[in-house]
Amino acid sequence: MNEENRYQRLREEMVRKQIAARGIDDPRVLDALRAVPRHLFVDEALRDQAYGDFPLPIGQGQTISQPYIVAEMTQALQLTADDRVLEIGTGSGYQAAILAQIAYRVYTVERIHSLYIRTRKLFDELGYHNIVTRFSDGTCGWREEGPFDAIIVTAGSPQIPAPLVEQLGDGGRMIIPVGDAYSQELTNLYRDQHGIHQTELGGCRFVKLVGDHGWKDV
Ligand code: SAH
Repeated sequence: MNEENRYQRLREEMVRKQIAARGIDDPRVLDALRAVPRHLFVDEALRDQAYGDFPLPIGQGQTISQPYIVAEMTQALQLTADDRVLEIGTGSGYQAAILAQIAYRVYTVERIHSLYIRTRKLFDELGYHNIVTRFSDGTCGWREEGPFDAIIVTAGSPQIPAPLVEQLGDGGRMIIPVGDAYSQELTNLYRDQHGIHQTELGGCRFVKLVGDHGWKDV
């Protein structure tokens, strides 16, 4: 069996055992997870672990999230094919690639320069032409491109950054881990004509969202 077929089989198994078995049933999310080559978003030495049920280090003290968390957060955004999505915390680029598989365009922001450069190159190599990258503090959002149909924050924050709420369009959905440095609640926001509605999806653990409207220290 060649490499690509082998990874394809690992992906199918990942979706069946870790994602569908735990209740994720949005076919667009399941198809995206089957399609994106997660092993190419981690260091070569970690490729064979890429489809395991855990996060992995990506350098600079950061991590690529566990596949299930990526699926859960993506499903919560209820994306459609013409949605414009803002992601804070590009990291490895894997979550952005999953979003780009479903939505119209993904705007992703990263604050660590080396990760920004590496992942931007990877998007080019893999042909993700509907992902736009930016090097800056994502807690301020991306004002010039807002409002967004969906916003996803993939780092843990002590509170919901006000600029992100401002840049969420009418009918917009946001998902963000909110809590202390060690554990957070996956928090889901929805904006309609009456205002903002908030629900909690459960506990999680992310690296820190560091910036003006997040943690002030690394
Ligand atoms: N979505 C990523 C997860 C990476 S971990 C993936 O699929 O791999 C979280 C990322 O958020 C790290 O790369 C970290 O540097 C970044 N980050 C933390 N605070 C940030 C901020 N204020 N703005 C942009 N990126 C931030």
